[in-house]
Amino acid sequence: MKELNILYLYPDILELYGDFGNIQVLKYRLEKRGIKANITPYSIGNDAPNFSNYDLIFAGGGADQEQGILSKDLVNYKENIKEAIENGVFFLLICGAYQLFGKYYKDAEGDIIPGLNVFDYYTEALNDRKKRCIGNIVLNCNLNGKETKVIGFENHGGQTFDIETPFGDVLYGNGNKFGDTKEGFFRENVIATYLHGPLLSKNPDVSDYIIKYCLDRKYNENIVLEPLDDTFENLCRKQLSDRFLNKDK
Ligand code: GLN
Repeated sequence: MKELNILYLYPDILELYGDFGNIQVLKYRLEKRGIKANITPYSIGNDAPNFSNYDLIFAGGGADQEQGILSKDLVNYKENIKEAIENGVFFLLICGAYQLFGKYYKDAEGDIIPGLNVFDYYTEALNDRKKRCIGNIVLNCNLNGKETKVIGFENHGGQTFDIETPFGDVLYGNGNKFGDTKEGFFRENVIATYLHGPLLSKNPDVSDYIIKYCLDRKYNENIVLEPLDDTFENLCRKQLSDRFLNKDK
């Protein structure tokens, strides 16, 4: 039986926006295909993980204070994380976690939370805590040559700059900063995005892109994933796409 090893970072701290749902969706879509999902949580005080021992690393979003707390712990793994990324381990990073893999995150009070500086982007919140990018968001993304709409919900004060390879083009909502045309950060083995929702619950193509990437890399195959019944996901996607993209019609 094929299996994937998933490291779930700071589930007790980065869980303000329900991003745990991404782990549940991945587990569901793997097990529906007879693939075992081995999910290992890691948080402050646990034994140090070797990131390269995993196929997929996941971390969700959180508030500034929690980001400041865990950044002091996460920095201990900077080199191990860089090595894992270079080895091709997949990283799915949502919002606060996305921010912490960049150079730094400056919060609304002007305090700097050092990032891992694994990627060149940086994030600065506006100096008014009330000014946040909050609302539904729709992207156009290209995953393995397939254009797909990605639908979610954003809630961030941080404005992210210096993204050379975004996750998607903004069709509705803000993106990396107020009124941006681009959202997130993307590499073949990294999806870093502001989209909560949770992201994967409404975007089966994104889930399956991640699953296929991880299986192909681990088993050195070009796996064709068995299609799943995404009737409800697609009904939801149509409802939301019509609501947000065809508003004026
Ligand atoms: N605290 C960060 C911000 O406000 C991240 C928020 C989040 O993870 N949704 O930008």
